[in-house]
Amino acid sequence: MLAVTILGNNSALPAFDRHPTAQVVTMEDQIFLVDCGEGTQMQMAKYKIRRSKINYIFISHLHGDHYFGLIGLLTSMGLLGRTQDLHILAPAPLEEIIGMQLKVADIHLPYPLHFHALGGGGTNVIIREARFEVSCFPVYHRIECWGFLFREVRPFRRINPEKARQYEVPPSFFDRLKWGESYLRKDGMLVENQWVTEPASKAKSYAYTADTMFDPRIADSVRGVDILYHETTYLKDLEIQAGKRFHSTTTQAATIARDAGVQRLLIGHFSSKYEKLNSFETEAREVFPNTELALEGVTYKV
Ligand SMILES: [Zn+2]
Repeated sequence: MLAVTILGNNSALPAFDRHPTAQVVTMEDQIFLVDCGEGTQMQMAKYKIRRSKINYIFISHLHGDHYFGLIGLLTSMGLLGRTQDLHILAPAPLEEIIGMQLKVADIHLPYPLHFHALGGGGTNVIIREARFEVSCFPVYHRIECWGFLFREVRPFRRINPEKARQYEVPPSFFDRLKWGESYLRKDGMLVENQWVTEPASKAKSYAYTADTMFDPRIADSVRGVDILYHETTYLKDLEIQAGKRFHSTTTQAATIARDAGVQRLLIGHFSSKYEKLNSFETEAREVFPNTELALEGVTYKV
């Protein structure tokens, strides 16, 4: 199970009942919060996202519309008696900002809060667990900014139990079969992996580009993902303005999706100058037909 729920799809200002950026990614039994604009807590309450299930928060960059909701959320978690660890993965200066806010208010959170600074050159794995991994990759904004790539980790072979029994492979070896190994029997016979397994369904993936200007390198970072979220702050006629402000247009986002060979494109981070969003979808679909608007409160399943 891999899904993304949009909590905020607007850029900069809240407008037309749209909120600054925040979304939750659900993978296995984990909920990851990705960016935390102002009002994220209220949106979480509205869409019944449980704070207590969040153990990791990812912040793409330190423009306020992507993290001004964070201090409120962290303090609420404390007031609600959280004791389990919380990890924040973000550009390095965030630790100082949050530290200052807690210090002047003399708040001592009852739970361990760990900061992990994003960094390095290209794509880096930042969380690796048995069933999933998360990487960050650089995007191209006015200040340091990171995209995030969520991937399931799962065996690529599925066991055919009848065949496995027939060839006398013991159940204790099944896990290794799922990862492609062949089994050497005590009598010296080699049971080839493909005799007793079949291809498993593909591991799923989701990529979030945060705020970025158009840059073809992004297509390399998100190649082949099931769902790509790419910002479209502007419609295509404002391409020059988009470039100057380190943002993207509909056509540019759709071009990245097409060139990266992704399955589906979600677009969001709409400028508050637009009340209606239909043209965003229409323009993006001219280049990449499988495009949808990222709408608040909607869960998109991979
Ligand atoms: Zn920004």
